[in-house]
Amino acid sequence: MDHPQAVPHNRLTFDESEVEAVANAVRSGFWACGPQVARLERTLEEMAGVKYAVCVASGLSALRLALLGLGVRPSDSVLIPAYCCVALPNSVLACGARPIPVDVSPNDWNMDLDKCRSTAVESKPRAIIAVSTFGAPVWPEGAGDCKVPVIEDCSHAMGIEVNGLALGGRTHAAALSFYATKLIGAGEGGAVLSNSYELAQFVRKWRNYADQPPNGSRMNDKMTDIEATLALAQIARLPGSLAARREFATRYAELLTAGSRPEHPFRLPDALQHRVWYRYTVEMKHMAADEVVEGLAKHGIHAAQPVADWRAGDDATSCPTADRAYRKLVSLPLYPTLTHAEQNRVVDALLTVSGAHPEGSLS
Ligand SMILES: *Cc1c(COP(=O)(O)O)cnc(C)c1O
Repeated sequence: MDHPQAVPHNRLTFDESEVEAVANAVRSGFWACGPQVARLERTLEEMAGVKYAVCVASGLSALRLALLGLGVRPSDSVLIPAYCCVALPNSVLACGARPIPVDVSPNDWNMDLDKCRSTAVESKPRAIIAVSTFGAPVWPEGAGDCKVPVIEDCSHAMGIEVNGLALGGRTHAAALSFYATKLIGAGEGGAVLSNSYELAQFVRKWRNYADQPPNGSRMNDKMTDIEATLALAQIARLPGSLAARREFATRYAELLTAGSRPEHPFRLPDALQHRVWYRYTVEMKHMAADEVVEGLAKHGIHAAQPVADWRAGDDATSCPTADRAYRKLVSLPLYPTLTHAEQNRVVDALLTVSGAHPEGSLS
């Protein structure tokens, strides 16, 4: 029996247009922050329908500079979802402020709006960071009555509209990451989007330490033209990528629910009306996610626990839904270059490992 190649959890999508774009940037002689970064900023402003986009070095830079620009200082607190990547608490801690985790909703794993409102009343935060997790837009109903500036982290969901408003344009500020495996990949990079001239100017000034007075919070947070040109090539293919991801997500749902079983050992993600498919995550009902990831690896399938738990002590016990998400969610391979044959192998392996069909029935 031959051993087919493992199915990776991530696979980058690119062709000669990305190669050409980078080669052109190299030939142009602008290797640092130059005209391609400016072009990317105009493109993002148009996509999100905001007045200003300012590109920075990473998603973490974008969050940190947006928080500083909104006036977050030591002794302030900032609400963040209890289920999120460690870049969020790090961005708050980098301002000297205190991150307060708010539990998430089991429907979309996004910050629970009611809990956010009540925590905001208790702890009077200076800002809130809300993430559109895995592509499900956070608070499609709007966040208007939180009365605290909201930063929308749309690294997983840029490029869609919710009730007529583009993601990134619905709140005081938005943050984006262009890390290699994100929907728009550029290797590294990020952006802050806002309608506020003051905030945009702050980020533009603060991403650069040169020709400014000494200041401990001024780092080198600039994006390069080489990264920006990659991001622009990826934005050009975004509609096609999102359509392909949607097809694979629909096919996962069909294959994983086919056949008659008394009970499925996992819960599939909701095909919410307004969403994109950055990740396809199944919630295990009985098994732990790490067991399933390990079992799938033995079948040559690289799945992952999509977010690593960074919480300690009290935070972990006061947010039961986040706790469940950290322990039970398994992210399956999902990208435009997945093939049906690969997807069939993922489905067979998951059904076997989770006990939904007996060992040996792998086709
Ligand atoms: C990746 C990611 C970040 C961090 O971005 P980096 O560019 O890796 O610093 C922050 N928030 C979300 C939602 C992310 O997916």
